[in-house]
Amino acid sequence: MLERKKSYVADGVGTALPVFVVEAGGGVLVDVDGNSLIDLGSGIAVTTVGNSAPAVVRRVAEQLEAFTHTCFMVTPYAGYVDVAERLAELTPGDHAKKSALFNSGAEAVENAVKIARVATGRDAVVVFDHAYHGRTNLTMAMTAKNMPYKHGFGPFAGEVYRAPMSYPLHDGLSGADAAARAIDVIDKQVGATNLACVVIEPIQGEGGFIEPAPGFLPALADWCREHDVVFIADEIQSGFCRTGDWFACDHEGVVPDLVTTAKGIAGGLPLAAVTGRAELMDAVHGGGLGGTYGGNPLACAAALGAIEEMETHDLAGRAREVEALVRGRLEKIAAEHPVVAEIRGRGAMLAIELCRPGTLEPDAARAAAVSAYCHRQGVVTLTCGTWGNVFRFLPPLSISDELLEEAFDVVAEAFAATAP
Ligand SMILES: *Cc1c(COP(=O)(O)O)cnc(C)c1O
Repeated sequence: MLERKKSYVADGVGTALPVFVVEAGGGVLVDVDGNSLIDLGSGIAVTTVGNSAPAVVRRVAEQLEAFTHTCFMVTPYAGYVDVAERLAELTPGDHAKKSALFNSGAEAVENAVKIARVATGRDAVVVFDHAYHGRTNLTMAMTAKNMPYKHGFGPFAGEVYRAPMSYPLHDGLSGADAAARAIDVIDKQVGATNLACVVIEPIQGEGGFIEPAPGFLPALADWCREHDVVFIADEIQSGFCRTGDWFACDHEGVVPDLVTTAKGIAGGLPLAAVTGRAELMDAVHGGGLGGTYGGNPLACAAALGAIEEMETHDLAGRAREVEALVRGRLEKIAAEHPVVAEIRGRGAMLAIELCRPGTLEPDAARAAAVSAYCHRQGVVTLTCGTWGNVFRFLPPLSISDELLEEAFDVVAEAFAATAP
């Protein structure tokens, strides 16, 4: 199968593990050879409710029998409206909200920028160091890391400016000081009156699970409000119970003007959304937003099923339980291995950053070695970070404590086995 893949699938599509999955659920992936792997990645934060959660399967099967597609822009159907209603209820803030649905996270981010530009009549977009917003032309421009996301793919979209992120481990700044530093860059290098929107991941994903210091996000949101700049939270990775609340913004009571969602929203089917203040969303002319498949009926049914699972099983609460268990295990590893510079993240979105002991020099080689060891032992782990030195954990919330303990036995073993 690997040889056939090599023959027919483009080499640019990388794969982390040399396996072919035939079954998945409850935190276990089964491959064609009958190997069982414990899943600490959730297909990159997607299968939060599991790989075939009962409510998702039931609703998608019913929808599949009824119809697969009509195109909402031609002949609408209720599922799309139902998802938009649930998004209005669940996203931060109690103001009037509306949504537009898309297929991928990158598409949602692009559309959020389009909406902000029309609503403000301004062009500039501010993003942050270590940001990840996708792989389309505009979102590549917004993404920070060159390899592998941008290398050779330019020229990139213009009017995208980058501000310094709050990164407590490396900058030692308080949230207020880091915000003042970012605002100074924005003010001097862009100017508020040219600025349509500030786009930020409340906890950065691919960039290294960087959690800004408390106060950073509220200060930025306040500055945006003062200057009529649209504050956009990219909650594509951090949203939908992942961090122990519905959205990562909820932890500090930050209310974004627009929020982008995808990944965990629909239990594995492709769906994404922009949700935000009704007056901003409605600034766009009729027909200006859409796409052939955006808000596909099967994906909408899946989202309603995933939200049902999150509510009936209190998966935000489950994410907090997962955090308690995993943090305990990570603290033990950190106590024994000085290469662990920091444990961070929230809920079931946790990471450890590896630096050479006693320094803040990234140790990407160790992260790769630990991850490779876990893969050989059948635990699916992911790395991330601008320097590739962050080991991240995104288990599905359908996983049992027993499996988590077993997986972290392997992670602990991996640190011991790769110690210099
Ligand atoms: C994954 C991700 C995206 C892009 O989503 P795709 O569905 O892969 O296009 C954008 N922003 C964040 C924060 C992400 O984690």
